[in-house]
Amino acid sequence: MATPLIGEILPDFLEEIVYLLSQTGEAALGPHVRTLRIESLCDCGHEECSSFATAAEVKVDRTVELQSMEGILLLDLNADNQVCFIEILGRPDVKYLLDDYTARR
Ligand SMILES: [Zn+2]
Repeated sequence: MATPLIGEILPDFLEEIVYLLSQTGEAALGPHVRTLRIESLCDCGHEECSSFATAAEVKVDRTVELQSMEGILLLDLNADNQVCFIEILGRPDVKYLLDDYTARR
């Protein structure tokens, strides 16, 4: 089964990321983020964690921290400036939608 676009599962959260990028001088990443797919969910098992990978291979070169109103939100980019992993902590709204998606799969 094809992996979903972030916007298919988390439309509001995607808009939040694009907005926060525009506030951090990384607005150019917005169009890229809209094309990202949820490749795999983080399996750390932490109850606060709803992180996911957006590339088959996760090799982090730099990290962009976003000033989210709630929780912790970090974009991990590889050496090609592509987002490969999104770290999300303390966001029950995101976790709920991801759990719902997983249950429907
Ligand atoms: Zn995790």
